[in-house]
Amino acid sequence: MSSNLDVLIFAAHPDDAEIAMGGTIAKFSKNNYKVGVIDFTRGELGSRGSKEIRDKESADASKILKLEVRENLNLPDGRLSLNDESLEKTVTKIRQYKPKILFAPYLNDRHPDHIAAGNIVKSAFFFSGVVKYLTEFPPGTAQDYYRPKKLFYYMLSFEFKPSFIVDVSDVFELKIKAIEAYKSQFFNEEENRAPATLIASKNFKDLISSRARNFGFQIRKEFGEPFFIEEGLNFDFNTYL
Ligand SMILES: [Zn+2]
Repeated sequence: MSSNLDVLIFAAHPDDAEIAMGGTIAKFSKNNYKVGVIDFTRGELGSRGSKEIRDKESADASKILKLEVRENLNLPDGRLSLNDESLEKTVTKIRQYKPKILFAPYLNDRHPDHIAAGNIVKSAFFFSGVVKYLTEFPPGTAQDYYRPKKLFYYMLSFEFKPSFIVDVSDVFELKIKAIEAYKSQFFNEEENRAPATLIASKNFKDLISSRARNFGFQIRKEFGEPFFIEEGLNFDFNTYL
């Protein structure tokens, strides 16, 4: 049996979590919180690399970010949707690891899989706490109902007005290192095709750091990562006093 996590992040594709919130993950690990990332798909629609190469890259990135858990739910890339199967698999993972907080992609995006992933996690966040929504883990053993305290959304393509911004200045190098672990996804002249992902752009490092600088600027720090929450946040003026 695996032990409980403090933080659980769901992502549509391997490398999404690193790109959107690698700095925040590194910060959680640095503070000794137990962090897990669960990817819904293996990114098998991607034109670069193979499943096996991407699995290895994802394991390397997980080591850099000191993840406690990295799993893949093997749902179909490009056809991710909120249905009985994806909901049940997600609720089962939430009840298995009992994280205090959850993360998912923002509910609107350029990539349909990111939208679907956001919707799956939003539903699972609710149903994980419903007594009569039954799941089993290990197979044959009924799980207890359990609902994390909060669900936060991270930013991929489409931007939102952040509910808050996390200062990741002191861990930004680790974030870049973790993204660089996905070597097969980098821009490659020989492939001679338009990049399908951010990481495949010629200047992906510049793109990632300019966004992080933009959000860092908003909180007068060097680098920042933005988050959104639909519910209310308990705010304490002591942060500024
Ligand atoms: Zn993605």
